[in-house]
Amino acid sequence: MATTLLRLAQAILRLGCWLALGIGLPAPSASVAPRPADRLQAFRYSDVTLTRGPLAAQAQVARDFYLAIPNDDMLNGFRLRAGLPAPGKPMGGWYDPEDFAGGCHFGQWISALARNYANTGDARFQDKVAQMVHGFHETMAPDGFFFASVKISTNWPCYTYDKNCAGMRDAYLLAGNSEALTVLKIMTDWAYKNMPRRRDEWYTLPENLYNCYSLTGDARYLELAHAYDYSLEYYDLFAQGINAFTPQRHAYSHINTLCSAARIYEATGDPKYFRAISNAWDFLTGTQMYASGGWGPNEHFVLAGQGALAASLSFDRTDWNFRTRNGDYANSFETPCGAYANLVLDRYLLRFTGDPKYGDNLERVLLNSMLAALPMQPDGRTFYYSDYHPGAHKQYFPAAWPCCSGTYAEVTADYPLNIYFHDDHDLYVNLFTPSQVRWQHGGDLVSVEQTTDGLQTDTATFVTHLTQRARFALKIRVPRWAAQPATVRVNGGVVHAAATPGTFLSLARRWQDGDTVAVTFPKSLRFESVDAQTPQLAALMYGPILLVALADGEVNLQGDPGKPSEWIQRQPGASLTFCTAHGQLFRPLYELRAEHYTTYCRLASGIHDGAK
Ligand SMILES: [Zn+2]
Repeated sequence: MATTLLRLAQAILRLGCWLALGIGLPAPSASVAPRPADRLQAFRYSDVTLTRGPLAAQAQVARDFYLAIPNDDMLNGFRLRAGLPAPGKPMGGWYDPEDFAGGCHFGQWISALARNYANTGDARFQDKVAQMVHGFHETMAPDGFFFASVKISTNWPCYTYDKNCAGMRDAYLLAGNSEALTVLKIMTDWAYKNMPRRRDEWYTLPENLYNCYSLTGDARYLELAHAYDYSLEYYDLFAQGINAFTPQRHAYSHINTLCSAARIYEATGDPKYFRAISNAWDFLTGTQMYASGGWGPNEHFVLAGQGALAASLSFDRTDWNFRTRNGDYANSFETPCGAYANLVLDRYLLRFTGDPKYGDNLERVLLNSMLAALPMQPDGRTFYYSDYHPGAHKQYFPAAWPCCSGTYAEVTADYPLNIYFHDDHDLYVNLFTPSQVRWQHGGDLVSVEQTTDGLQTDTATFVTHLTQRARFALKIRVPRWAAQPATVRVNGGVVHAAATPGTFLSLARRWQDGDTVAVTFPKSLRFESVDAQTPQLAALMYGPILLVALADGEVNLQGDPGKPSEWIQRQPGASLTFCTAHGQLFRPLYELRAEHYTTYCRLASGIHDGAK
């Protein structure tokens, strides 16, 4: 009986995954041709395990953290609003029902718990999802009103519905919770009748509404998705090659809405949406992005071509919106939220095109923004902004449980999705971090284990685990940053494979159990200027890793910026610490906790490497 139920549940999950991929969705008009097939396909959460290394460690700490938040505390505000017994205690901060955005990340936490269950199979996550969904269901009003307060329903109705919509979908699809589907339908009934069509961050809604339409077949989801389509004011501009990243626009939500455009393209095949996200990605990386992969100082875009990124680092030209308890500031990049949106967009584009440039960017964003975030604290303190001003230090946001406490849970739960991809024939490696992937390749179950920490070393090693020999190509991203010569070894012997930076190298053969592959992509030092107008202000990179100067204020460097390896040397020891000939120390931003640091240093002469 248990086996039958398990098989049934697995079949439902598989069906849900197919539906979630957009099978059977109608095209917006008969004139739209079928879109090209995705070049790559994603793995499921259950297919990939992070085994060691800093990404695995951060994801594990996050899993433990969110699992430990008492259910009664998470549900307290909802129960009070519903007039039900409300054990537990108010969580305070943004989560307070009468605060800025009360209870708005409830759905994100459910999403993360469901994704963690799908990844680990740990029943504690599934149980917690079940209790949260049921507890939430009990608080819903007869008319479907589901917010923690009337205030949140008027301040952030679209934002909150969006997160809850995704949470219930994930609970149903990834944790097998059927009650979540009921809740989702009740919420959408309410939203269909009552939710304002253009309020708060309405333009991020289509992604989840398309997902839920493909899950339920309910035409109202599709109608809502169309109502929130951002074509006229935003997607159409990008599709025409116009940079719509204007300073008035809120940065995180306007990258997040590009994921909606990606989902609309995936569902409908309309090439306009692909042109929009492809062009927007080029503008984002070419005109808005710091060396860390972050963007959006003070949560807004900057004017391109006017030195505005450099200006954002100048104290007298910074618009300080948020102050911390000790009077210091930090506002360069809304990190967990921004990283979440950016990584989802990178994964869409990597799947659609197979172009490794999206993998390069994903690596940059992940290692230098999200991995560099401080861990969550039990009182709700959350790392919100990365700070790239001279003499900055990492700090927590002044209010507890801000938006980034919701995305922190999701982005770490999604780490398994960033590492491997596949097509019908071959297996693709996108990230270099210890992990294991299980791939059903025709009749063969192929498992590949990546054993080396690619941050500390230049070499990544892979071992195949096979029950019988299997023919496929192992395709490994050769990062754009890779210095020459790259080397590839199979079972200890050097093989000649084209390892051109910015491509996937291909090792096609009939693999057998225990085969080993070692690829070496040498990292080297280079400076990247903050923008083209300010070539003398630059960040130091070591391969994909942002190195920051340990300093209280501005840093001036004397050496030739075109030949940093001649005057900046790696120090002995495990840490990636570097030192200039004049004694200035550099370390990876992701390693720092309380140290003061300077991201952009003033060079003796400028470099020219970008078009920002
Ligand atoms: Zn945030």
